[in-house]
Amino acid sequence: ESKLQLIQRHIRAFPDFPKKGILFRDICPILKNPASLTAVIDLLEEHVRKNHPRVDVIVGLDARGFLFGPPLALRLGLGFILVRKKGKLPGATVSVSYELEYSKAEVEIQEDAVAAGQRVLIIDDLLATGGTMLAACELMRKRQAEVLGCMVVVELRDLNGADRLKPHQVFSLVQY
Ligand code: 5GP
Repeated sequence: ESKLQLIQRHIRAFPDFPKKGILFRDICPILKNPASLTAVIDLLEEHVRKNHPRVDVIVGLDARGFLFGPPLALRLGLGFILVRKKGKLPGATVSVSYELEYSKAEVEIQEDAVAAGQRVLIIDDLLATGGTMLAACELMRKRQAEVLGCMVVVELRDLNGADRLKPHQVFSLVQY
């Protein structure tokens, strides 16, 4: 079995969660199984070493980007920065708001989290419409950091998130 097959086998689908009509992809089994979590980090590390050797820091999205970001950052000998939902971070922050289906959301970083000119890779568990990832890219732009690329474990292709993120590159391990 390949690393990718091992990962695929540890993603479950739940119909009608969190609401009717949504097929939720659950990545919890990946974390429960050390071999599949190792496979995720192995493949992400391989991608970064090959394509983005000059990256300075890994940026992870609230909340499941926090599960994969730090182990990847450690493998690469890099630090990790948190993009959080509004109101969770102390001190001076920079925020970006974005549209959800029926409402608005806001993400933020600490003002001193990333320095101007730093090269970052952004990671999350899953890309759907790309709204969350786009807001994170905008946060980086506001701080004059350079986004080298976006990485996710799962990409929901039908929702065209990667198109919305252009010209930023999206790298995903598993696509539906
Ligand atoms: P987007 O902003 O791309 O529409 O939604 C992506 C965000 O919502 C990610 O932070 C992701 O964690 C969460 N999300 C949306 N749908 C799913 C799903 O089916 N499974 C998981 N694990 N997360 C989802």
